[in-house]
Amino acid sequence: MTTRETGPQIVALGRCIEEGTPLGPFEGTVFSGFTAASGSGRIHAVADCPRLGKASSVRAVDFSLDASSLGRLCANWCCRWPLPDGGRWPVFLDALDAVSRLRLDEEEVREQLPDEAEIDEAVCAVAGRVSAGRG
Ligand SMILES: [Zn+2]
Repeated sequence: MTTRETGPQIVALGRCIEEGTPLGPFEGTVFSGFTAASGSGRIHAVADCPRLGKASSVRAVDFSLDASSLGRLCANWCCRWPLPDGGRWPVFLDALDAVSRLRLDEEEVREQLPDEAEIDEAVCAVAGRVSAGRG
C-alpha cells in the first residue's frame, strides 16, 4: 500500500515497467539518472546504487524514457525515480500492476497446458501430415 504524502511519488521504474511495455503518452518523459562514465550499461536513479559500485566513475545523465532507455533502467530497489507531477503516472503504474497480476494468473493457467515436448510432437505430426499431403 502506498501512502499518499506530500512530495513526489518515488517509484522503482526498472521494476514497475517491464521492458517492451508501450509507454503511450509517457514516452519521452525526461528523468535524471546515473550511468557508468562510459555512458553504457544500466541507468541508475542514485549514484550510490550497489550495482553501480564496480564502475570507477559515475556521471549524471538526463534521459528521455523510451523503449531503449526503458530496457536499461536498473531494477534494483534502491534505484527509484521521483515521478513528474501530472497525476496520470499513478494510474499508468496501477494499470501495469494490474496487468502483471493478470500475467501471474496466466502463468498458473499455463501450467495446465501441454509442455513443449507435447507441442513439438503435435507440430511434427501436423507438419508430417502436410508434407505427406503435398507428397
Ligand atoms: Zn541501480
